[in-house]
Amino acid sequence: MNILIFWDRGAPVGLEMPVSRIISQILDIPVEVCKSPVLYNGFDRSRNQFDATEILTCLDVFSRRNEENRLILLVTGDDIFRPHTRYVFGLSRPKTKTAVISSARLNNEYWGLPYDEMMLIDRLSREGAHELGHLLSLDHCSNPSCIMANPSTLDDLDIKKSMLCPSCLAKMNKKKVSVFV
Ligand SMILES: [Zn+2]
Ligand SMILES: [Zn+2]
Repeated sequence: MNILIFWDRGAPVGLEMPVSRIISQILDIPVEVCKSPVLYNGFDRSRNQFDATEILTCLDVFSRRNEENRLILLVTGDDIFRPHTRYVFGLSRPKTKTAVISSARLNNEYWGLPYDEMMLIDRLSREGAHELGHLLSLDHCSNPSCIMANPSTLDDLDIKKSMLCPSCLAKMNKKKVSVFV
């Protein structure tokens, strides 16, 4: 197993299996998913959001304490931000092999639209695969349909295909050989 997904209590119930299966397909890496054992802090009372950089630090502490060498992705339902931004869909820290994504703004209901489960599954798996792509040394890609395109809006995210473009795929496969073999 090379990727570990922690599904937080507040993350959408029942979507962990489809989301991890699609992430595993996009990156072609085995994925294990479980309930998150990590308690994180970083709540900012004035913004009613969590600081994603603090969440990544908590994941890193967990990972080192447990001598975990898989890539870790936490899926949370809490709204998250990075300092100097209003919000982020996700954030990764390649140095510590940890990433976090939030379902809060990926959910149609947040924007006053009807709940759409398939859409939420697609968005969570694309955003999750994107952040994990960074952990596999991929940078942002100029191809708007590639998983590694940098989405600033939900529309950008919805334009993507659930796959890496050939150039990112080649880069990742090269990296995989050096990391995992
Ligand atoms: Zn990115
Ligand atoms: Zn690409």
